[in-house]
Amino acid sequence: VHPVFAHMPTTVFEEMSGLARELGAINLGQGFPDDPGPEAIRAKAADLVLNGYNQYPPMAGLPELRQAVAAHYQRTQGLDLDWRSEVTVTSGATEALAAAFLALVEPGDEVVVFQPVYDAYLPLIRRAGGVPKLVRLSPPHWRFDRAMIEAQLSEKTRLVVLNNPLNPAGTVASAEDLALLAQICVERDLIAICDEVWEQVVFDGLTHTPLMALPGMRERTVKVGSAGKMFGLTGWKVGFLMAAPALTHGLSRAHQFLTFTTPPNLQGAVAYGLDNPGQWFSAMPRDLQRSRDRLAAGLTREGFVVLPSSGTYFLNVDLPASGVMEPDRAFCLRAVKEAGVAAIPVSALYEEEPVTTIMRLCFAKRDETLDAGIERLARAR
Ligand code: PMP
Ligand code: GLN
Repeated sequence: VHPVFAHMPTTVFEEMSGLARELGAINLGQGFPDDPGPEAIRAKAADLVLNGYNQYPPMAGLPELRQAVAAHYQRTQGLDLDWRSEVTVTSGATEALAAAFLALVEPGDEVVVFQPVYDAYLPLIRRAGGVPKLVRLSPPHWRFDRAMIEAQLSEKTRLVVLNNPLNPAGTVASAEDLALLAQICVERDLIAICDEVWEQVVFDGLTHTPLMALPGMRERTVKVGSAGKMFGLTGWKVGFLMAAPALTHGLSRAHQFLTFTTPPNLQGAVAYGLDNPGQWFSAMPRDLQRSRDRLAAGLTREGFVVLPSSGTYFLNVDLPASGVMEPDRAFCLRAVKEAGVAAIPVSALYEEEPVTTIMRLCFAKRDETLDAGIERLARAR
């Protein structure tokens, strides 16, 4: 590998999905549903592509989608976003994150990031010239406190990146944790990038609180969303950046040189979905919660110990507590090769002092797939 690429390894999601494809394994690794997604939204995308939504849409996104996004967050999270000056449509949350780091990180800036860390953050921060400062979270609670964050702050700290709900932990940040982070951002004059792609996927009656809604955060938070996660259409790559006008100005400048825009038929179809949600935003998490419970119950029956999951598509297994004494990566490689089931070793989402005891499983799957996965995991053990 050329040294220039040293900070850009192949992501664990591609590695494990590649193995699953090659070996014909059940894929409980990378997070995507095996359900085709809401039919009316897919039909709308097909209709729009056949009826003229095929040329460059406006750089910041179709007005109808930006209006729908602002209205959606008003309805669901009480946010008051001006669609003209505070909403940018991107090609997935991944592009939103890239644009945010390119716009906001100057060479030498320090960026506080929590481990386990979503795979895209560190390579993007480093390519922008930033220096990640890692706060290590660990199971079973994955919580932080003031001392853990303050230990990573310096004069050079510019940004904090929070993912809430947290992939891969499946946790939803508590009100206290959010308040603490907001306080620190205000005290130190930091900008927060809050990756909230899982905001609609929360269970057990919990509600999502956007970091942007906390005192002092409205002007200093960049909120990242993903239609792929909202509608279970993960391949669509339609994302959103929401921020105060002064920040949005810079974010949209970065966005214009990354992708400039996002396929117009997909934007129009997402606008349609947001404007006509019906029961989707209650039915989708309810169905996923049922799948979570099915996977958890099946694994427990087989003697695995699972951690609580309050959001995302993911359930974590505590391997040593389940009698698996191999490190997570060794077990996951053996499970895919010998038992035909792919999972994500959570150690891959740490850069320093990895937690090597946790295996992440995606439960956004049909019952038959989950049941077969449980049986195969039991065989691997
Ligand atoms: N952030 C997190 C925490 C995610 O889990 C994902 C998708 N798995 C993304 C960002 C990327 O979202 P998108 O597919 O919209 O680019
Ligand atoms: N977000 C997905 C996951 O956590 C993966 C997305 C990707 O492959 N980059 O499984």
